[in-house]
Amino acid sequence: MQRTIEIADFELPRGAVSIQQLMAMPRSVWDHLRSEITRRRQTDPAHPIARCRLCKGPIFIRAHFADGEHAPVFAHYPESPTDCPWYQGVNLKPDDARAAQYQGHQESALHRWLCETIAEVLGKDPRCQLVTVETYRRPAIAARGRFPDVYAELDGLGKFAIEVQLSKPFAPEIIARHLHYEAEGVALLWVFRELPPELPQGFHDVITLQRGNVFLFDDAALAASIAQGKLVLTALLETDRGGFLKPRQASLDDLDRSTGRAVFIEDRRSDRLLEYCRLGREKWWEAFREAPPSDFDFPFSEPCFHRAWDSIKGFVPALSPWKRECWSTQFMRGDQHFAELAAILFSIARTAATAKDRVYVTRYTGEGALVAMLNAKLSSQFFAPYASLIETMLRAGPARDRLDRASLKTAFAKAAAMAEQVKSGHPVWAGAARLFPEVFDGLRRAELDDLGRLPGWAGGAEQPT
Ligand SMILES: [Zn+2]
Repeated sequence: MQRTIEIADFELPRGAVSIQQLMAMPRSVWDHLRSEITRRRQTDPAHPIARCRLCKGPIFIRAHFADGEHAPVFAHYPESPTDCPWYQGVNLKPDDARAAQYQGHQESALHRWLCETIAEVLGKDPRCQLVTVETYRRPAIAARGRFPDVYAELDGLGKFAIEVQLSKPFAPEIIARHLHYEAEGVALLWVFRELPPELPQGFHDVITLQRGNVFLFDDAALAASIAQGKLVLTALLETDRGGFLKPRQASLDDLDRSTGRAVFIEDRRSDRLLEYCRLGREKWWEAFREAPPSDFDFPFSEPCFHRAWDSIKGFVPALSPWKRECWSTQFMRGDQHFAELAAILFSIARTAATAKDRVYVTRYTGEGALVAMLNAKLSSQFFAPYASLIETMLRAGPARDRLDRASLKTAFAKAAAMAEQVKSGHPVWAGAARLFPEVFDGLRRAELDDLGRLPGWAGGAEQPT
């Protein structure tokens, strides 16, 4: 068994041709290729029309005579490096180490070919001012340089760093790269060759950063890039069920890069995240609409609050044993106690959202109602343990100016001194986090904030709609 060149990279628009493709060609087609290679070798030997994928050395098509007919194979011209793993004429020794090394060669050669081909089609775009492959760029802001696989500047579109990622584990540098390029005003795009059926974690990380968007530079993308004279990618957009919509083609013009850190065609994640937040509160808003405190002295035993409790304990099962414990240790109705605390938090959210004091517990109304309600609740032994939780809620959004009121400052200080504080990890804190992930759930809060989708009442840029 002899080694053979398995893939030859022809000048675009021909592109990559595998040995299988070559051998399946009608004689007239490979004869033509063969004579084109020879013609170029005579007119411009420095720029061969076809190169070996692995060593990049010039190659030709040899007609191999066997069984009474000619079969085409790729062969290196003599000046190609003889240490190419595909160099013909050397017997293949199948041992594992060699096989692994060989696999590595193939993968890095494919990577190089993808980078160079992407750079080439970018270069055909008339707006392209600069395109480089793996060239060191002196960072304008960060101290440490990075090597984007492909870097391009397009007139009217901006600066792009393209990382070509094949199916191997990622360096734990994905986020660092995003931060780095964001600081430099460069849009970072991760491009895969294909989507493996079992996605390694690194792919998930990239898909998350790209808001549920996957970009491939596959054969269809290459063909479209050649046809349109600019870089075209195959875009896969995530569905709510974790699969992907039918592939579509996208160019750099289609990218939304308004959020800085990540670029995408469509943000497939934020709406889902906001929907998650909304669902946690749905039954509670219904209850507060149905049983406002002005109509009931203590509305929390109303059926609408039973439904709200059922909803939150469905999300946070740890609230059920906590409720039993409230009863067995303090003869306290945990569900009504939680509802009253929720009313305090919803009062803060509502006041922050509308910039008008509105409370869902106690009968205070009008200007100053929020501070008056909080002063009253914090002074009770039942709510003093939540001073830290309530302060977190208040501090997150625009109602945080209330923290400057002397009376409220005193109330928080007294409450903190009076009772041991409920902290993150406590079932009630978890319940509050499910009601207001925008405030208490650090990961989701940060994710929304990154995208400029954190609601105004939670301290974000987005105004209430
Ligand atoms: Zn070679």
